[in-house]
Amino acid sequence: MSFSSMGLNEALLRAVVSQGYTTPTAIQLQAIPTILAGHDLLAAAQTGTGKTAAFTLPLLQKLLDSGSVPKDQRKPRALVLTPTRELAVQVADSIRTYGRNVPIRTATIYGGAGMYPQIETLRRGVDIIVATPGRLLDHLERRTVDLSNVETLVLDEADRMLDMGFIRPIEQIISKLAAKRQNLLFSATFSNEIRKLAEGLLQSPQTIDIAPRNTAVDLVNQQICHVDKGNKKALLVHLIQRDQWGQVLIFMRTKHGADRLTRQLQQDGLRAVAIHGDKSQSQRTRALNDFKRGRANLLVATDVAARGLDIDALPHVVNFELPQVAEDYVHRIGRTGRAGLSGEALSLVSPDEVPQLQAIEQALKRSLPVMTETGFTLATPIKTSARAGKPHHRPRSKPGYSGRPQRSKRSSQRQSAR
Ligand code: AMP
Repeated sequence: MSFSSMGLNEALLRAVVSQGYTTPTAIQLQAIPTILAGHDLLAAAQTGTGKTAAFTLPLLQKLLDSGSVPKDQRKPRALVLTPTRELAVQVADSIRTYGRNVPIRTATIYGGAGMYPQIETLRRGVDIIVATPGRLLDHLERRTVDLSNVETLVLDEADRMLDMGFIRPIEQIISKLAAKRQNLLFSATFSNEIRKLAEGLLQSPQTIDIAPRNTAVDLVNQQICHVDKGNKKALLVHLIQRDQWGQVLIFMRTKHGADRLTRQLQQDGLRAVAIHGDKSQSQRTRALNDFKRGRANLLVATDVAARGLDIDALPHVVNFELPQVAEDYVHRIGRTGRAGLSGEALSLVSPDEVPQLQAIEQALKRSLPVMTETGFTLATPIKTSARAGKPHHRPRSKPGYSGRPQRSKRSSQRQSAR
C-alpha cells in the first residue's frame, strides 16, 4: 500500500513527498488506517520505526476532517504527551513538517522553559498540544490551558513515562480531557504496567506490535573493551583521534559524570558538549543543535536525556559507563544503526562493571565480542560466568529482560541519577 491510497489528503501527501518518503514503514501501514477509522490503538514501536508520522499524519487528517474553527476560538483538540522535552520538540517539529501545507497550529509545552511565552501561545489558540506531563499539569493548575475539547490523546513512549514516575500526572491530565475521545498508546515494550494503563484507558483497542529493535540492534556492530576505570578517557580520546571518528554519542550514568567527562574532553581540545536533566532547556537545545550541525562532534549524555533522540546517520555510540539497567543498553545502542544504516557501539568496561555486563549479555542472550587495544589492556583479564561457554550469535527474537531489577528500583535509580 502507498501513502496515496491511505485516505490522506493531497496537502499532507505533498509534505510526505517533500520529506522524500516513498513507502510507508510497517507501523505507518498498520497505524494510519486504524487511526483514521477511529479505533483506539495500542502499538509497540520504538523510535526509528517511523512511529511519529504513523500517528501525526492521521491526526492531522482527522483535525482537517472535523473542520476549521476561528483562530481565537481554538481550543486544543489533540494532545500528545511525551516523556522528555527533547522528544516533545522532535514530535512538534514532525507535526509542523507534515502539517506544513495545512492551517493547523501546534504548541510545545515543557518544563525548563519560560511559562509566559507558553501561556501566550495557548491564549492565541492552538489545535494540537505536544507536552511533557509535569508542565502541562502546571498549566492546568493555573487554568492557563483548557483540555476539555481534546478528542485525541497520544501517549508517546508511554513505557518511559511510567518509568519516570509520570503516572499520576498522566491520570490527572486524562481526567480533564473530553470523555469521548480516541486514545493512542505507543510504547517500546508491552510491560505489565503498560497493559494495566492500556486496560484503564483504551476502548476495544487494535494492537500493533512492530519489533524493529532486533533489526536496529542487528545493524549495530557491538564490541566491548576491558579497561581500567582510570584509563577510559585516554582510550576514548585515542580511538577518536586515531580512527578519526566523526560524531560520537557518549553515555554516562550520572549528570556529574557527564559534566566531568565533557570538561576533560574539552581540556584535551575536543569539541564536546553535554546533555542531561540538570541543563536548562536552552542549554540542551543548543548542545543538541551544535552536535547535529557538526559544531561539536562529541555529545556526552545521560540515558533519560538521550531517550528518543533522532540523530541522522549517527555512526558511533560509546558506553563510557555501562547502564545500571540492562534494558537501557539496547536503547543506547539503538541511537545508531537507524534508518537501515549500520553503526558502531563500543562499551568501555572496567572490572567493577562486570555485574552490569553480565546482565546485558543475559538480556541479549549472547556474549559481546571483546576488542583489545595495545597500551590499554588490563593486567588481569576479566572472566565472567555469563561469557563462559556462550556462543557468539545475533539474537533472533526480542531480547528478554529477565535479569532486570524491579520497576520501582529502576524508577528510583533513574530519578536520582539523571
Ligand atoms: P520516528 O520513529 O518517528 O522517530 O522516525 C524515525 C525516522 O524515520 C525519522 O528520521 C523520520 O524522518 C524517518 N521516516 C519516517 N517515515 C518514513 C518513511 N515512510 N520513509 C522513510 N523514512 C521515514
